Amino acid sequence: MERLTIEVPPESLCIRQAECPNGHSLMDPSHPMGDSPSIRVAVVSAAGKGELHLHPYYGNHEVHSSVELKDGELYDMSCPTCQVSLRSEEDRCVFCAAPMFVLKLPKGGLVHGCSRRGCHNHKLKLVDVTAQLAEMFELEVRPRY
Ligand SMILES: [Zn+2]
Ligand SMILES: [Zn+2]
Repeated sequence: MERLTIEVPPESLCIRQAECPNGHSLMDPSHPMGDSPSIRVAVVSAAGKGELHLHPYYGNHEVHSSVELKDGELYDMSCPTCQVSLRSEEDRCVFCAAPMFVLKLPKGGLVHGCSRRGCHNHKLKLVDVTAQLAEMFELEVRPRY
């Protein structure tokens, strides 16, 4: 696959829908952050089990946690509905080698984030965008061989 880099100003994208791998919505309208529903996950840190709210603005690293998260600590995130781990098996942080966690977006998008507290590595992966890109930039979609 060829890689395409898209640059966006920090916090110019707000995540409206994120899901666990089993399709449960992680959005929590009862706990808004920055005027929008936050993303709620179950968290396990050295201090114990709790709940973590992630800021819905892509690139905003503010979190509200019910348990203490120490800087540099690894924490595990899972779906509050089905308890499936949100950790990616194959994806490791390029900065600190910690496992990455994954949030599913509608239409095949993925948000990856580092599971180490204080490491702000994250990326947005978009799939099946060839046709949309072609339309936006008047490109021709060629059949693949
Ligand atoms: Zn789930
Ligand atoms: Zn990292």
